[in-house]
Amino acid sequence: MSIAAQHLEMVSLLEARGIRDQRVLDAMGSIRREQFLAEQDREAAYSDGPVGIGFGQTISQPYMTALMCQELDLHGHEIVLDIGSGSGYHAAVLASLARLVYSVEIIPELAAMARENLRAAGFAGRVKVICADGSKGHPEGMPYDAISVAAAAPDVPAALIDQLYDPGRLVIPVGTREDQSLRVIRKVGGKIESHVSTMCRFVPLVGEHGWRN
Ligand code: SAH
Repeated sequence: MSIAAQHLEMVSLLEARGIRDQRVLDAMGSIRREQFLAEQDREAAYSDGPVGIGFGQTISQPYMTALMCQELDLHGHEIVLDIGSGSGYHAAVLASLARLVYSVEIIPELAAMARENLRAAGFAGRVKVICADGSKGHPEGMPYDAISVAAAAPDVPAALIDQLYDPGRLVIPVGTREDQSLRVIRKVGGKIESHVSTMCRFVPLVGEHGWRN
């Protein structure tokens, strides 16, 4: 199957699994995921699972990217914080759905790769990649209408709740190193509401408010 046909099939599968936000489907249908992978991994670009991006890290399964973006309920005016840039793919999807994305990555080589991938895909003006410990959020860009965390935390870092606008939404995998639930947290009228969207398995969030070592 050609890579273009595989791309179309990925979007059909997202729809079949319950992704209903047309803007998310359109964004993922238009961004070429292979542009965010190394040459030798490009044939796996549309496979239904995580793909290695080096340094023991992975680009999430397409369904997980879609679900997280759908849960954030973006309409186009938002300022978004993305933690765990990795390849930059998730940041590109967020940038297609919102106004501006701050994307924080702790591994310098991956931050450089994300920046380059986003530039090559035409997102340089809409995504600022920062190399830092995102478990502390990114105070310089706050408050955020939405925050997306692509690495699993032992608890929800308080800094992220503090940096969220009211109203605002945060999606984050929380649990053990092996098993987590994807939590959707809403700040509204000064109150915090939270529910579990699905079970999941992400690489660990390291850093001050993540897993130590
Ligand atoms: N969203 C990415 C994949 C994320 S994989 C994509 O679309 O490709 C998770 C990423 O989180 C890894 O790159 C890892 O280095 C990063 N990470 C882990 N702990 C972090 C922290 N405290 N701050 C910022 N990034 C972190």
